[in-house]
Amino acid sequence: MSTDNTSGNESKPLHFIQQIIKRDLNEGKVQSIATRFPPEPNGYLHIGHAKSICLNFGLAEEFGGTCNLRFDDTNPEKENQEYVDSIMEDVKWLGYQWHGEVRYASDYFDQIYEWALYLIEQGKAYVCDLSPEQAREYRGTLTTPGKNSPYRDRSIKDNLSLFEKMRAGEFEEGRCSLRAKIDMASPNMNMRDPVLYRVRKAHHHRTGDKWCIYPSYDFTHGQSDAIEKISHSICTLEFEDHRPLYDWFIENLPVPARPHQYEFARLNLSYTITSKRRLKQLVDEGHVDGWNDPRMPTVSGLRRRGVTPAAIRNFCDRIGVTRSEGMVDVGMLEYSIREDLDKNAPRAMCVLRPLKLVLTNFAEDKTELLEAAAHPNREELGSRELPFTKELYIEEEDFLEEANKKYKRLVLGKRVRLRNAYVIEADEAVKDEQGNIIEVRAHIVEDSLGKDPQDGVKPKGVIHWVSAQQHIDCEVRLYDRLFIEENPAASGVDFLNSINPENLVILRGCKAEISLATASVGDHFQFERQGYFCLDSRYSTQEMPVFNRTIGLRDSWSKISSQL
Ligand code: ATP
Ligand code: MG
Repeated sequence: MSTDNTSGNESKPLHFIQQIIKRDLNEGKVQSIATRFPPEPNGYLHIGHAKSICLNFGLAEEFGGTCNLRFDDTNPEKENQEYVDSIMEDVKWLGYQWHGEVRYASDYFDQIYEWALYLIEQGKAYVCDLSPEQAREYRGTLTTPGKNSPYRDRSIKDNLSLFEKMRAGEFEEGRCSLRAKIDMASPNMNMRDPVLYRVRKAHHHRTGDKWCIYPSYDFTHGQSDAIEKISHSICTLEFEDHRPLYDWFIENLPVPARPHQYEFARLNLSYTITSKRRLKQLVDEGHVDGWNDPRMPTVSGLRRRGVTPAAIRNFCDRIGVTRSEGMVDVGMLEYSIREDLDKNAPRAMCVLRPLKLVLTNFAEDKTELLEAAAHPNREELGSRELPFTKELYIEEEDFLEEANKKYKRLVLGKRVRLRNAYVIEADEAVKDEQGNIIEVRAHIVEDSLGKDPQDGVKPKGVIHWVSAQQHIDCEVRLYDRLFIEENPAASGVDFLNSINPENLVILRGCKAEISLATASVGDHFQFERQGYFCLDSRYSTQEMPVFNRTIGLRDSWSKISSQL
């Protein structure tokens, strides 16, 4: 297999589309390449679209070509400007810039209409009066051929005048359609006189009420590619059967270029839904709080959750591009998220379930400013100041009155190190009337800042803490996978039944170190021992910051990291 040494330092085998492009360039079949990402603006982009974005924009970058962003907006009822705006924002956020202006298939409606007239004039298209139900019947099945429509042999003149009437709004929806005259006996159902235009008295988000007939997706997509002189039109495998039709239009129309379609396997991700229709259902029925809910696999949801563009791009690179359908372990995505955040996120301390710790041998009114590195192995990220006081908070689960040897935290009579600070020894657990521990009293082991105690008794572990006097109060949201089934989209089950009931835990009264007071949306942190967090862009306020857990420090679900 040929390899590519031009981009990146490790040489990776070229995937099949890279090989095709390289060959086409070498053979002079194309002078330069042009790709496009062609979303329908009927929903927000998800992680599957990210794969297509990385592929199309990535190829253009790699081979010095261009990549367009084109909205394939042929379905007026389902599309709107909110989706258009979100898609542009997501593509940019992923780190890509499209070539020139954003394009819209709807900008080509005049040209596409002209091409419909052209097909009629060539005797290759006709107005058909079969109702949608009848048309389905005439179409035949996968195993039986279809039947010719009784309207198939209308004269060119009649077809031109009927199509003009369709355009003028003289027919109701469903009354007639314009169809290509190809082959009702073709084994490929897409070639059985496919619909080119339907009557649809719908307002379009860009063309307004100019049209009451709309071209079908198939009659628009390839011609839009041709208008934009796309050299490699890349789509997912479910369009493989549409390729003969794609080619038929290109061959039978006076188009300015002859693009070619290539298909790759879509991304299916375990524990994840990647169907816009189902994602929309989750939003519409209120199972999540919007398209950008941090539990959603949408690009905007991942962003709000704290996932970085680099993590998504690395993930897409890692999974590769093939023609074989399969299911990618969501652990691969999680691995890429952790990998990037571990490298780049500054460290901080935050106590999620606070328990008061009183240091009996530390002066009441004293504040000692300790310094801690922002990142253990990236000096350039600088340091932060940790105010250390007599009263601190530690994590409730980091203290036990008694415990066995496996428990590496604070135990009565035993020692632990406070992260970035002193070693302490616990002396007493103060309880309320119900016997709940409400405070731990301990003392600092002398001369233990940044070194082991002089008496040779080492601490059993390290726990995090914040000052009880100088901290910020915050809310923390712990997310888990949205679905408990590996394949929530499996047929035969309602995917709503596989929603993980524990997909969100909201913790109030959390205490974070004071340096987080200046955190802003878009920053990432590792809360030591807890995972990676970011400020929530929706619920966070100046008075009450809300931190989303992007992901835990370790994979608690699968064994993927050992496979990588
Ligand atoms: P629909 O067409 O049903 O609205 P869609 O997911 O195909 O949904 P599009 O907006 O048409 O959405 O997708 C834009 C591009 O992204 C297409 O080229 C499509 O093939 C690609 N794409 C969509 N889903 C995936 C996926 N899971 N993996 C890879 N590419 C995908
Ligand atoms: Mg689609």
